[in-house]
Amino acid sequence: MRYGVSTSSTAIAPNARNGLRLVCDLAVGARRGSIRAVATAAVIRTVRGDIAPADLGPCDAHEHLFLVTPGQPGDEYSDVDKAIEEAKTLRAAGAQALVDWTPIGLGRDLDGLGAVSEATGLHIVAATGLHRDVHYAADDPLRDESADALADRFATDLARCGIIKLGAGYHAVAPFEVTAFAAAAAAHARVGAPVCVHTEHGTMGGALVERLGELGVPAQRVILAHVDRNPDAGEHAETAAMGAWLQLDGPGRTKYWPDSTILALIAELADRGHADRLLLGGDTGRRSMMRAYGGGPGLDYVFARFKPRLERELGTQLSERIFVENPARAFAFAA
Ligand SMILES: [Zn+2]
Repeated sequence: MRYGVSTSSTAIAPNARNGLRLVCDLAVGARRGSIRAVATAAVIRTVRGDIAPADLGPCDAHEHLFLVTPGQPGDEYSDVDKAIEEAKTLRAAGAQALVDWTPIGLGRDLDGLGAVSEATGLHIVAATGLHRDVHYAADDPLRDESADALADRFATDLARCGIIKLGAGYHAVAPFEVTAFAAAAAAHARVGAPVCVHTEHGTMGGALVERLGELGVPAQRVILAHVDRNPDAGEHAETAAMGAWLQLDGPGRTKYWPDSTILALIAELADRGHADRLLLGGDTGRRSMMRAYGGGPGLDYVFARFKPRLERELGTQLSERIFVENPARAFAFAA
């Protein structure tokens, strides 16, 4: 229970605390002009309709139930029945919600996500937006769309999707990605959904937050994925201090790094006072990572294996923050 965190706010009931923090986050957005009114009715937009943030429950903040990309030849997957089979294991391990980060053009299947939600009872948040450059073929017609056209496309999608996905490269942002950033900022200004950015090897976190800030997206509405690929607590603490969300989503990638690396990073970020900026996901983004396709570690790894270990080593209160309280704020926006 080292990181059981005893701030004065723990005296307030968890839901009330979520609400206060959410209104606070939205108020910051309002001051910066991206949200016109402080919302009293914030929602999380799932593929089967809006829910109250307090109803989200334990959330896997980054998954892909379907993914077809030229960036991962031979590792694509798109079968709805297999997605249901896999998602049932995540539900059985205690998750009540997942956020699917597969964006436009990469095998995203909104009806399929709806079917998985219906079959499992999981709340599922879907993504509009675009991934980073390498995931689109050279002749993909999406490359010819203007920022304005993409913004319209994203905003239309946000009737059913709950996040706006973006991607950046390794220490660089390609021209296609620059256009997508502009479109995402415009869609965010219209709909308010959080902007969720793939970082390559956890690079450029602060720079990406600054880039979006210049486009009018407040740091509090930015979620940076894969920061644990660059397990540098000092750098990420500075990004968290800007107000952005840090998402760690590499549990089970044992051939690259052990889970202990991620736990140590969480512990250090919590020690530095940023427990309220952390999100956790499994990012099971390859066919070969799904047990339903004969691979592993499976969609449930983050809840069945990593979360219990986090609770044993760092305490249940920190786990509750990362898996329940933080996602309820990070993915909420004013309807
Ligand atoms: Zn991903």
